[in-house]
Amino acid sequence: LCMKEKFEPVLTPEELRSKLPNWPYFIIDLYHWEKHTQKEKGKICLQVTQSYGLLRDYFTGSELAVTWANDEFKKMFNGPLDRITIYEGPTAEFLKGKGIDEVVLLDPWAEEVLNEKDFGVKAFIIGGIVDTGGTKKKTTPKIGEELENAGIKVRRRKIVLKGDIVGVPDRINRILGIILKMMVEGKDMDRAVYEMQ
Ligand code: SAM
Repeated sequence: LCMKEKFEPVLTPEELRSKLPNWPYFIIDLYHWEKHTQKEKGKICLQVTQSYGLLRDYFTGSELAVTWANDEFKKMFNGPLDRITIYEGPTAEFLKGKGIDEVVLLDPWAEEVLNEKDFGVKAFIIGGIVDTGGTKKKTTPKIGEELENAGIKVRRRKIVLKGDIVGVPDRINRILGIILKMMVEGKDMDRAVYEMQ
């Protein structure tokens, strides 16, 4: 038995979560998985792994959830599948199962800018979308519509740098990093964006 195993019993994501009921979920929503090329799917997997790494720095990593996670994702993902929360079905179903009826959707097409008042929600949703071609324009708002149709209240919020989304990195893990810097470290948005560029 190595020391690590002795002192850090490995808890399942569910067990970890039950110890920390007030922490929000950070959900990467793979609703648009099939719109991606194999290479892009690989990039999504990598960004999920990097998101897990980031969350470990602040929380435990178990608050990272991936929804619409199909077999192909599970096969391609070489991060710690057993340490994050994986849900095969719709995001709305996952949320309802957790008693969550309102979320913040990070959406570059939103009118409103993410702000402190949003930090009390129980789930943040980031689109599991990678843009290499221009084929996935406005796919994030569709995630919001899907959730609203299923009865979830959605606060669509954008992240901006000096008032504009230009200059904001759009990788999934960078968006997560910006939220964490604001929420946990109390940094203002411009500073958080600069630090994640
Ligand atoms: N092509 C997608 C679209 O037009 O909606 C954007 C995909 S972006 C590469 C991946 C995810 O990062 C988005 O779904 C969104 O959740 C988040 N994101 C990227 N830039 C953002 C911004 N400026 N503000 C808020 N969320 C952003």
